[in-house]
Amino acid sequence: METTITHYRCGDCGSEQLIQPQDPHPDDIITCAHCGATWTVREVQEASLEAGTLAAIDKIDETFGKE
Ligand SMILES: [Zn+2]
Repeated sequence: METTITHYRCGDCGSEQLIQPQDPHPDDIITCAHCGATWTVREVQEASLEAGTLAAIDKIDETFGKE
């Protein structure tokens, strides 16, 4: 069973439709319903904490530390 979450926005395509397992664990995968980009639940939670608000999820591993 999967659920759609709308509190986050895909950093790749801007879609706000992300699919996560109904009972997510930190290592479970969240998938963008639009472009198929994936993140772990942990990545999304950490991004949200750092932003302090509704977060656009960038490709965290590739973008952190740059610029
Ligand atoms: Zn996307």
